[in-house]
Amino acid sequence: MSVNRPHIEPGRLFIGGEWREALTKDRRNIVDPSSGKVITSVAEAGTGDVDAAVTAAREAFDAGPWAHTPGRVRARVLHRVADIIRRREDELVAVESADVGKPVSLCRAVDVATAAEEYEYYSAMAQSVDGATRQLPIPSHAYTRREPLGVVGAITPFNFPLVLSSSKIAPALAAGNTVVHKPAEEAPLSALLMAEILAEAGVPDGVLNVVTGGGSVVGEALLQHRGVDKIAFTGSTRTGRHPASTAGQALKPVTMELGGNAAQIVFEDADLDKAVGAAVKGFVFNTGQFCMGGPRLLVHSSLYETVLEVLAGAVAGVPVGDPFDPETVVGPMAGERHLAKVEEYVRIARDEGGRVVVGGERLELDGGFYYRPTVIADLGNESRAVQEEIFGPVLTVQRFETEDEAVALANSTPYGLASGLHTTDLSRAHRVAARLQAGIVWVNDWAMLDPAMPFGGVKQSGYGREYGPEALEAYTKVKSVIISLA
Ligand code: NAD
Repeated sequence: MSVNRPHIEPGRLFIGGEWREALTKDRRNIVDPSSGKVITSVAEAGTGDVDAAVTAAREAFDAGPWAHTPGRVRARVLHRVADIIRRREDELVAVESADVGKPVSLCRAVDVATAAEEYEYYSAMAQSVDGATRQLPIPSHAYTRREPLGVVGAITPFNFPLVLSSSKIAPALAAGNTVVHKPAEEAPLSALLMAEILAEAGVPDGVLNVVTGGGSVVGEALLQHRGVDKIAFTGSTRTGRHPASTAGQALKPVTMELGGNAAQIVFEDADLDKAVGAAVKGFVFNTGQFCMGGPRLLVHSSLYETVLEVLAGAVAGVPVGDPFDPETVVGPMAGERHLAKVEEYVRIARDEGGRVVVGGERLELDGGFYYRPTVIADLGNESRAVQEEIFGPVLTVQRFETEDEAVALANSTPYGLASGLHTTDLSRAHRVAARLQAGIVWVNDWAMLDPAMPFGGVKQSGYGREYGPEALEAYTKVKSVIISLA
């Protein structure tokens, strides 16, 4: 289904239920990655704006009805959010695609659909935020209460703005918290549209506040603010160390969803068509800007050259181009700095002896930030292009001989967000899944995600989980109440 390029009004901050200019009066231009042209601007907030947003969220939590509203009533509001997302689907698709360069077909099927499902899922969960009674060996009535944490500072990255902000805001609100959201500076537009949608759904003033601006000013002010009770951070491992240690100093709960560099293992008994399909999906999905992408393919040596040959043909046939063309599968990178990073890693891979099987260059199109999907073979495991997170449409392919070697290679980077394998041997599927160091393991496919299944990292990919009842727990605290019956 086609979507027209949108006209997007300049954005303001959403604080205490009102749209405001930043106290700084500064603005930031927002660039369309498919043309490099400015499409609109948003307010560039300062510390005073963050203070106003946290104050509004604090008041809404302390004095407002939201935290004390029965879960069933909060559930109705969150369900309305899901309904409005679906009703305003075209608008959300157009804005997110123009902001990030996402193909409209992907944006509709994945980003917007997932955001609606997230609100729907946590609408249901809002009805079961409850405690338990316990039997004690003293005369007493003892029970636990699950209570909201207070004001949540949500900081999100550029690659899935709508999905990742919803994966924080929906469970936080379901549990009765209030939120100050700081979206990525280069992709803030859907966050502003969502503020409008949540208000339309009946989320009370001050319960969601959106403050646009840079990480070192707005993000930092949110981290440092005493009025914030929890930090929910998604971003790179490099940036994430700072929020983690700042929250640690302040003894605030924090969830850290950080970088990834997953491997897909293709065993000798794999269904080759399925495995190659998953491999392509794993590295071209969202133009490779996917924390749970599979940029490392580990192939049994008996299949290595065959897989490279099939991959080369499959990858060359992937439609790359204008994200507003419904046939497009791979759009531009989200920004010039992301494109430059990919170019640098492909240069490094060539210097390190990598063989470029397909791609390996940018695509000159309309002044946009395009890079051709690229497959690189024959790199050693110590190569930087293998060990580090490239975050672009680049797949490295390595060979292995034994199951032990495959597992060791898969686990050999500092990351542990996702991992996967392709096999028709059921015992091997379970055996290897248990040995892979990752928050989620996929067998015989890639990128199967659902709000009901928790995801998150191990090792340098972070800690805490989003999705599932686990996310709801991360936005609540447990209180024990013991009443003497003596
Ligand atoms: P980034 O780390 O550069 O930025 C993430 C957010 O942190 C942005 O909003 C940024 O403004 C903010 N920030 C920067 N400095 C800050 C500071 N000093 N204090 C507070 N906030 C600050 O990440 P990015 O480039 O936007 O996103 C890509 C990265 O995110 C990749 O590494 C990717 O793997 C990771 N990611 C992880 C997940 C996950 O679920 N684990 C999901 C998506 C993306």
